[in-house]
Amino acid sequence: MKFNEPQQLPDVTDNPLQLAFKRRAPLMPWRDKQAVEPERWTDIWQQICHQSAKQRHGQRLTYVHIPFCANHCLFCGFYRNKYRTEFSSTYTDALLHEIDKDIDLHLVGDQPIDALYFGGGTPTALETKDLARLIEEACELLPLSNDCEITLEGRIHHFSPDKIKACLDAGVNRISIGIQSFDSQVRQSQGRRATGEEAAVFIADLISWQRATIVIDLMYGMPQQTPEIWEQDIATSLQLAPDGLDIYCMNVFPGTPLFAAIKANKVQPTATLAEQAEMFGQAFKKLRDASWQCLSNSHWGRNDRERNRYNRLIKTGVDTLAFGSGAGGSAGDFSYSLSGDLQDYYNKVSSGEKALTGMQQADAYQSLRDQVTGDMETGKLSLPALKSIASTQFSDSQANCLITELEPMVEHWQRAGLARMEGELIVLTIAGRFWSNNLVTTLNQRVTHTLTNIQRGNTK
Ligand code: SF4
Repeated sequence: MKFNEPQQLPDVTDNPLQLAFKRRAPLMPWRDKQAVEPERWTDIWQQICHQSAKQRHGQRLTYVHIPFCANHCLFCGFYRNKYRTEFSSTYTDALLHEIDKDIDLHLVGDQPIDALYFGGGTPTALETKDLARLIEEACELLPLSNDCEITLEGRIHHFSPDKIKACLDAGVNRISIGIQSFDSQVRQSQGRRATGEEAAVFIADLISWQRATIVIDLMYGMPQQTPEIWEQDIATSLQLAPDGLDIYCMNVFPGTPLFAAIKANKVQPTATLAEQAEMFGQAFKKLRDASWQCLSNSHWGRNDRERNRYNRLIKTGVDTLAFGSGAGGSAGDFSYSLSGDLQDYYNKVSSGEKALTGMQQADAYQSLRDQVTGDMETGKLSLPALKSIASTQFSDSQANCLITELEPMVEHWQRAGLARMEGELIVLTIAGRFWSNNLVTTLNQRVTHTLTNIQRGNTK
């Protein structure tokens, strides 16, 4: 890989927000990991399970996946199974069985869990009694820290006041609702059933419980979502005043209904990249001016109730226990995924097996890339901190060599209007935050390339 390979470095232009790169890089956490051969999965899993998590210190996460949705939202690439009432108790039983079986493993029980996330799919699709017992029993079984963030992801549809109360009583202390837009037409064009007004009333009611941190997800760049509609989406969010706000860019993935619908001219195209960049900048300035805190490149907090712990830590590569069909987790050098095929998942859980469907192994440079990814997600990067982590694995002169190789790239970001220095800290500008995936990808490639050369003795 050459340092000045096309797309590696941003263009220096008078409009970095719109023009720094020709396209946005997807950030794929498994990109730098090597697939492990299936015949080794069971042995490696046994080793992982019996190693104490205490050896790795640090914070830990747990992800519980509920792979059902009422319908397939047009834009979504995560849809797996249409929800049917009869799935609720069978799936809940299987999940609790899986957690209960793993609880005695050193991997699971040895160290407190700092954030527990019930995601999907749509966890709130489950029947009230099943969802409540899932949360309550998972909280009882897992070694949660005293201040554990316990998030439930949900949709307005089928999330009745009775279900909300049951989830809060069961221990949920953070609820994240996918809204996407408060504009009825935009919502309905993406398969969302509630109108914008109904969505706003739902969020206001949820906030009024005053028993959990409330987060809403918005999306920009959707078909029919003009800059004026987006401005109104932000204004409505500010008015509702949830504790946290996620702001995602609409991406059209091949295989999604939206991809097919746009191709067939049944739905208007999404906003162009330049329009999406402007929408990002517009939201950034509005939220900053309203004194919200930018907790990560896509997440804002209105107050200190919102910690965004799970979403922040997952980017730093900390150990994540995974439960449920389609879930993914990591432990030490290994990442793993669990079968998305429901019947396969049920069969494996009932026979006492972990339903592994994939495994990857990280190389020796992963902790440095994790540091880069985690730091950049918060819009800041410290090269001295990176150097001190490198010094724990390499000699001082090799760690110095790594930083020397990275510095020209960071200087170029500054010329391109994507970063500025605050003391020794590299701080991303608004444009740098919009293009952060490109910057992280490039920087991590550079870390790997440089350290590989150092190991081979190819550098000074
Ligand atoms: S956006 Fe959420 S609710 Fe809609 S299909 Fe995707 S996972 Fe299901």
